[in-house]
Amino acid sequence: MFPRLLIDPAKVRENAAEVVRRAGTRGIRVFGVTKGFCADPAVARAMVEGGCGLLMDSRVKNLRRLRQAGFTEPLMLLRIPMLSELGELVQVADGTVVSMPETVVALEAACAAAQKPMDVMVMADVGDLREGLWPDEMEAMGKVLAACRRVRCMGVGTNIGCFGGVLPTPENMALLAKCGALLAKGLGAPVEVVSGGATSSLELVDNGQMPPQVNNLRVGEAILLGFNTGRLQAIPGLHRDAFVLEAEIVEVRAKPSKPIGLIGADAFGKVPVFEDRGRRLRAVAAVGKQDAKIDGLTPLDPGVSILGASSDHLTLDVEDCPKRPVLGGIVRFTLDYGAMLALTTSDYVEKVYV
Ligand SMILES: *Cc1c(COP(=O)(O)O)cnc(C)c1O
Repeated sequence: MFPRLLIDPAKVRENAAEVVRRAGTRGIRVFGVTKGFCADPAVARAMVEGGCGLLMDSRVKNLRRLRQAGFTEPLMLLRIPMLSELGELVQVADGTVVSMPETVVALEAACAAAQKPMDVMVMADVGDLREGLWPDEMEAMGKVLAACRRVRCMGVGTNIGCFGGVLPTPENMALLAKCGALLAKGLGAPVEVVSGGATSSLELVDNGQMPPQVNNLRVGEAILLGFNTGRLQAIPGLHRDAFVLEAEIVEVRAKPSKPIGLIGADAFGKVPVFEDRGRRLRAVAAVGKQDAKIDGLTPLDPGVSILGASSDHLTLDVEDCPKRPVLGGIVRFTLDYGAMLALTTSDYVEKVYV
């Protein structure tokens, strides 16, 4: 069945082991982030085998999937929780990130009702402007947590890069460490974990610029794709092809490179522009925007380039292929994070473990 996603858990395991090893040389623990692949248990297992002792996901539903698959490792929610999901969260997870004192109070009530403890990581905003407290709110948050019986503060974390595109620097990491100290002051106890971000923060680890207070990272993309989207760079020493899309060719035909007729908007409301390169050999593959983020696909086969896609058709230029593609043949692509997210989510894409 095509389209299908080939998933290689051994490559994920090797990437995880390498990221865990490199971070470990700087005293940094790595939590594995499973949201990029809908917490598929085979891939999550590979993260654990590679040395991620705790898994995080942004959806309670994904955490439940891991629990039901038999994971006994600690599981944490990576998106600041909805008030409406706290009851379910307490049943499924061991912890969550938080940014609102009101949520902490409601979480304490949910923990009391379920007679369960929960760990929380307090998110600090050091400039990316997604979730998180300002430094001057940290001490008060510490006091709210000090008053909790079942909610335990595991530490402080920050998210950068995802919304504002902010890159990690020794300066914003030092600000995070300061937020940790302020939180500890309000808490009246030291904080155990200072979590300096995600894949993008690995570069500070690799170049020795990470402040010593930072002792944790939450990593998805590096382990899954060997790529740092923050820098649009491959990370040396990691596999890039643990996830590969295969699609089947349903038409091969030479066509002009410029559409014929009056040009309006395409199926997605954009007016396309095509350069006239004369008649060229094309292939149509049976995959589309319903399955994948098309600009996140990179052809693996030499001479193939992507011209565009509608919801169910991917149009390829195959003029420069050393071997002429045939009807029923397969084209292969590596993925970026967005394409992996969409493909693992799509019901129309078969998942095959290699
Ligand atoms: C998604 C996410 C991560 C992991 O990001 P990667 O770039 O995949 O390593 C870490 N922390 C938070 C809060 C996230 O939302």
